[in-house]
Amino acid sequence: MKRALKLLSSGNPSAFRRVLLSWYDKHQRALPWRGESDGYRIWVSEIMLQQTRVAVVQQRYGNFLRRFPDLRSLARAPLPRVLAEWSGLGYYRRARNLHAAARILARRGGPIPRTAVALAELPGIGRYTAAAISSIAFGEPQAAVDGNVERVVERLLGGAADPWQAAARLLDAERPGDFNQAMMELGATTCLPAKPRCQACPVAKFCGQCGQRLKRMPTRRRKQAKQAYLLLRRGSKILLQQRPASARLMPGMWELPSAHRTGGTVKMRLRHSITDTDYHVSVFASEGSIRAPLNGIWLALPTLQRLPLTGLTRKILQRLASETNL
Ligand code: SF4
Repeated sequence: MKRALKLLSSGNPSAFRRVLLSWYDKHQRALPWRGESDGYRIWVSEIMLQQTRVAVVQQRYGNFLRRFPDLRSLARAPLPRVLAEWSGLGYYRRARNLHAAARILARRGGPIPRTAVALAELPGIGRYTAAAISSIAFGEPQAAVDGNVERVVERLLGGAADPWQAAARLLDAERPGDFNQAMMELGATTCLPAKPRCQACPVAKFCGQCGQRLKRMPTRRRKQAKQAYLLLRRGSKILLQQRPASARLMPGMWELPSAHRTGGTVKMRLRHSITDTDYHVSVFASEGSIRAPLNGIWLALPTLQRLPLTGLTRKILQRLASETNL
């Protein structure tokens, strides 16, 4: 605790910054958005990373940018194309907000704002995201505190200060973007939630919590649920339905029809996890002359992949494509 208070009360924690940044320079993970200085590309990465694991974002980031390489191309694209490209990342409200913000900026004819205050006025950009974009892309000295940084700061300071204020005092004003990313990297790779790797921590000598037994975080049991879908085929075509525009979750997205009765042949079983729930999914197959419901369409697989599909539907169709010649 004394070490922690000293870190802040010195008023100039330059040794901490130096050690942290030198560790980050040597040990940062190679991620596609690292070293990027274009505001649009950083914005896209920060929105994707809000609620999606790094490993998944790594797979989707490049494709999204190839499809929409700049603000103008994103603003010009119809929303369904953007949602289709977002499929698999989940939390589609982020894609809707990203698209809406791009259109606002395109209408103004202006570039991406360079300050956190102006960025936070756009849809989908909260306090953390605004600070992350402005510091990484434009060098604004703003501390960005996500869940990882909050944990690191609390441990460093023994829970002695407000994480945002403390992070602002620790921030390196010369390299604010790198400093914020270094704090996030420390939280993601070393100062882990359940078992911090204090032996390998570059800033252990500054830390109020180092070597102390941490309070056990209660682990919440994940909910389990069953779902069943129908895979209806007519030749090489598959029937899909659109979710209502008024649906609370994934409005307007396309998916396989639900199976209310679970009789028939099970074509595949899979598990799909969304937030705190694991879905155990059964897909029932049927072929022949089935009439499409009003909000359904028969489509061949290549066409269908260009629709804004729910993540689960995309997963089922990818599995189907890998198992058959569709
Ligand atoms: S010494 Fe341990 S608790 Fe402190 S910041 Fe490093 S990993 Fe976290």
